[in-house]
Amino acid sequence: MSDSTTDGGCGTDPRGPFTGDGTRAVRAGLPESVKHEPTLPGPVFAAHFHLPGDPTGPYTYGRDENPTWTLLEQAIGELEAPGQDGAETLVFASGMAAISSVLFSQLRAGDTVVLPDDGYQVLPLVRTQLEAYGIEVRTAPTGGDAQLDVLDGARLLWIETPSNPGLDVCDVRRLAEAAHARGALVAVDNTLATPLGQRPLELGADFAVASGTKQLTGHGDILLGYVVGRDAEAMAAVRRWRKIVGAIPGPMEAWLAHRSIATLQLRVDRQNATALTLAQALRERTEVTGLRYPGLPDDPSHRVASQQMRRFGCVVSFTLPTRARADRFLDALRLVDAATSFGGVRSTAERRGRWGGDAVPEGFIRFSVGAEDPADLVADVLHALDETAA
Ligand SMILES: *Cc1c(COP(=O)(O)O)cnc(C)c1O
Repeated sequence: MSDSTTDGGCGTDPRGPFTGDGTRAVRAGLPESVKHEPTLPGPVFAAHFHLPGDPTGPYTYGRDENPTWTLLEQAIGELEAPGQDGAETLVFASGMAAISSVLFSQLRAGDTVVLPDDGYQVLPLVRTQLEAYGIEVRTAPTGGDAQLDVLDGARLLWIETPSNPGLDVCDVRRLAEAAHARGALVAVDNTLATPLGQRPLELGADFAVASGTKQLTGHGDILLGYVVGRDAEAMAAVRRWRKIVGAIPGPMEAWLAHRSIATLQLRVDRQNATALTLAQALRERTEVTGLRYPGLPDDPSHRVASQQMRRFGCVVSFTLPTRARADRFLDALRLVDAATSFGGVRSTAERRGRWGGDAVPEGFIRFSVGAEDPADLVADVLHALDETAA
C-alpha cells in the first residue's frame, strides 16, 4: 500500500480542472490508484465479512454493505450530484426497488402523495399498494406542470420527466419550489434522461431516483436502480428500507454497471444524436403522426426541456395509422429488435399498446435508438415504412 499515489480521484473532482462529462464518466467512482491493483477492482462476492469483536462497519453483512456497491454509489453520485458533498447514493436491485424504497420509506398512513398519471407503467400497481396502506394518492399529467394543481397537503411529489412513454416534460424547478412551499418532498425519476441529461438535485429535487437498467448501463443485460438524496435523515430511512426488504443488487451486476458507466457519455451522445436524426427523418413521413422527441425544436416539450436538460434522451415516440401497420412495421425492421425497455446500444422498438395500461393509440410506437451507424438505422426505418405502406 505504500506505493499508493494520489492522482486517482482528481479527474472526478468537479472542483478540479476536469469537468467534461466524458472525463467524469470514465473516472467516476474509481478508487485511489494503488500499485499492482486494478483500476476498477473486481466484484466482491461476500455474504459476510470477517468481523471479530464489536460489529462496526463499513462491511459487516452482505445485505447491508458491499465494497462493489460502494464504488458504484460513488460513481453515480459523482454524475448525479457533482460537488454536492452532502448527497448520498444507494443502489438497488432494480428501478422499481429504488422507487418503492423512496415511496414506502417516506410515506405513512394518512399522508398524501402526488404521482404522474402518465408515468412508468408499474406506477398504477404501486398506487394500489400505497392505498392499501392508507396513503392518499393523487395523480395529474406531466405536461403543463399539471401536478401543481393537486399539491395542497401533499407530503411527497413524484415527478417523471421526460415521461415514459409520452415524452412530456415538466418544469422541475417550478414544481419543486411549489412543493417545498407546501412542505412536501420532491422526487424525480431520472431514468430517461440519465444524469448526463439532467441533474434533478440541482433543479431543486430532494431525490433523484432511476432505473439503471436502461441507458445508464446501456447493454440490456442487467437490472439496477438507484436513489440519490441530500437529506441525511430521509436517506437513512431509504437505507433502512433497503435493508428490511433486501432489495439489493448482486455484486456482479453492480460491477457490470460500474464498468458500463465508463462509456456513458459515448453511448448517450451517439444514441441521442441519432435519435434527433431519426425524429427529423420521421417528421417528413405522412403516415407518422404524434411524433415526439424533446430535442426537436418544435416539440411541445422542447422549451422547458432546453431549460433543464443538457441532453434529450434516446427515445422517440410516434404513431402509425393502425395497429396492423405498426405490427408490420416492427416486423419489417432488420436492425431493430422487437423488445421492451430502452436505452441499450442495440435499437429496440415496440407497439406500446400491447401491454395495456398506457393511454396511447393502438399504432403508438416507442422507439429506443441504439448505437448503430445513424445512416444504417435511418435507412432501415425508412425501408420498413416504405415496405409496409398501404
Ligand atoms: C424501466 C423504468 C422503471 C423501472 O425500472 P426497472 O429497473 O425495470 O425496475 C422506472 N421508471 C422508468 C421511467 C422506467 O423507464
